[in-house]
Amino acid sequence: MGYIEPAPIKDKENPFESMMSRFHIAAQALGLDDEVYNVLKSPAKQVVVSLPITMDDGSIQVFEGYRVIHSNILGPSKGGIRYDLGVNLDEVKALAAWMTWKCAVVDIPYGGAKGGIKCNPRSMSAGEIERLTRAYTAALGEIFGPDRDIPAPDMGTGPREMAWLMDEFSRAKGMTTNAVVTGKPIVLGGSLGRSEATGRGVMVSTLAAMEKLRINPYHATCAVQGFGNVGSFASLLLEERGVKIVAISDLSGAYYNESGINIKEAINYRNENDGTLDQFGGAEKIEGTDLLTLNADVLVPAATEDVINMTNSDKIKVKLIVEGANGPTSAKADQVINDKGIMVVPDILANAGGVTVSYFEWVQNRLGYKWTGERVNRRSDRIMKDAFDNVYKISKEYNVSMRIAAYIVAIDKVAKTYKWRGGY
Ligand code: GLU
Repeated sequence: MGYIEPAPIKDKENPFESMMSRFHIAAQALGLDDEVYNVLKSPAKQVVVSLPITMDDGSIQVFEGYRVIHSNILGPSKGGIRYDLGVNLDEVKALAAWMTWKCAVVDIPYGGAKGGIKCNPRSMSAGEIERLTRAYTAALGEIFGPDRDIPAPDMGTGPREMAWLMDEFSRAKGMTTNAVVTGKPIVLGGSLGRSEATGRGVMVSTLAAMEKLRINPYHATCAVQGFGNVGSFASLLLEERGVKIVAISDLSGAYYNESGINIKEAINYRNENDGTLDQFGGAEKIEGTDLLTLNADVLVPAATEDVINMTNSDKIKVKLIVEGANGPTSAKADQVINDKGIMVVPDILANAGGVTVSYFEWVQNRLGYKWTGERVNRRSDRIMKDAFDNVYKISKEYNVSMRIAAYIVAIDKVAKTYKWRGGY
């Protein structure tokens, strides 16, 4: 999914604990019993592999790879693979659990998983990344499968890596198995609409939340942190619906234009400049951290974890935060944001458009039938809007934030399914 900037954090929390603290609040509100609580708090499987790779200079470098299956109660587990130097087991565990809740919130028949390799893809050649991806796939060959565990892109990976994964898995099985992975190039059975899907879901959730807050999109301003797959499509689609995108950012810094940034121009610039906005002329350069505290109506953090934290949460001025990234708000900052009366559309709802269209991709692969882009968009928009309305309704019913409401919806669904399936 392209490169997205790392977190400039001071009060970094353990991501798994941060996930658990929200899980805990929602479980209490729901009256979840101890047995199910204990089942859902522990990942079902955690695999760590070591991957020796021959680098282009002939040396051998050993990389650490992870795959965590948090739950397969709702179905085969689903979740992306992240290539980043910050990848570690606790992060992958948290991201896997978030996938469980995400799939449950949008009511698709998957459990949650996540994978990652601790590496810096920007300093590696395409050949090195290919060998690493193939080695990772071979090492996890018994974990992956269309009915077992289905990877997808995440930070630092995209259609290219998914193609290698699909090919390596298919070679080992002796048959083309395209349903083993989603987010593939279209010619390999990827779905139309998959690349835009997460950003599109962010747009749908933003408009749904604006309606509740009585913000007219044509008069609204928005700052978007991160200009990778999620941030750039979210910006483009919001701009198309009248929202003025006043700030965007990537690793090279943040860019501000009071009268609105031309997002198509920014995307073209990035595509022609090695994926970076560095020296982008359509806006004034500002400090990356200032983007989060700008005077705008909406903030879309679409980069990485814990960027809204105890160092900046009290300075945030927007009325609405829509979490394009996974875990962009630290658990400690939740309270500060809530006390300020800011509405947060949480990650497990706001960025679920990606996995929803991944589900459509898997369905199409299994059917051997291709949907039109129009059908993909119509169905995913419906799912996102229904999920938003449901979470909003629960937040009123339980008198809790949208985040806790989303966890309540998710935990309730997984817990009920677990009770029907039973244990040993
Ligand atoms: N990595 C994406 C996410 O965090 C997509 C996962 C998928 O499509 O399986 O939601």
